[in-house]
Amino acid sequence: MRILVVEDDSLLADGLVSVLSRAGHAVEHAASGRLADSLLERESYDLVVLDVGLPDIDGFEVLRRLRARRSSAGVLVLTARDAVDDRVRGLDLGANDYLTKPFSVTEFEARVRALLRRNVPHAARWSIAGMDVDIAAKRVRVHDKPVELTPREWALLELFLQRPGYVLSKSQIAESLFSFDDQLSPNAIEVHVSRLRSKIGAAGVHIRTVRGFGYLWDGADE
Ligand code: CA
Repeated sequence: MRILVVEDDSLLADGLVSVLSRAGHAVEHAASGRLADSLLERESYDLVVLDVGLPDIDGFEVLRRLRARRSSAGVLVLTARDAVDDRVRGLDLGANDYLTKPFSVTEFEARVRALLRRNVPHAARWSIAGMDVDIAAKRVRVHDKPVELTPREWALLELFLQRPGYVLSKSQIAESLFSFDDQLSPNAIEVHVSRLRSKIGAAGVHIRTVRGFGYLWDGADE
């Protein structure tokens, strides 16, 4: 896969580039927001690892311009420690996921894998870990046992399957489940997600909670 690393800290950038190259990706590096923006305008990448604190135009602006051009590249935002606002701002601007510095190589590799897996074409059947999903028949089996889902849980599952590795905010979830309910409070969404989690959790798939924001379908145990 083709990956662009946007990071002005040369030590960290070298580390990320070498980890990604070792994993077999074609990696390019931009040390400034301006360079990143011009590369992103001309070239296409599967994934952008984007530091928000850059010397000229910041990562948020790079991200905003990228999404304004309707690029579907995955974006993993790197934020400073405890910068919750940056996290939320990045996700609002269309980042797929974020990592808070400092992070471990293992964590970085896992997030990159999850994001690169997300470009899965729509399929009629899915087999993920111990779970089989028949989209057309709306049937789910966990370790070969049928699981009954309510229409809302089914809609949630479909939403997650369409956007693996993508953080969904509660408002995005509410919007897509809106047709069932006039009002869907954040608490109601939590209830639906936790029921879905308990019904399919045995399959080894994970719906991660992104605190204060929403949920991430994290794929399955490898
Ligand atoms: Ca920086």
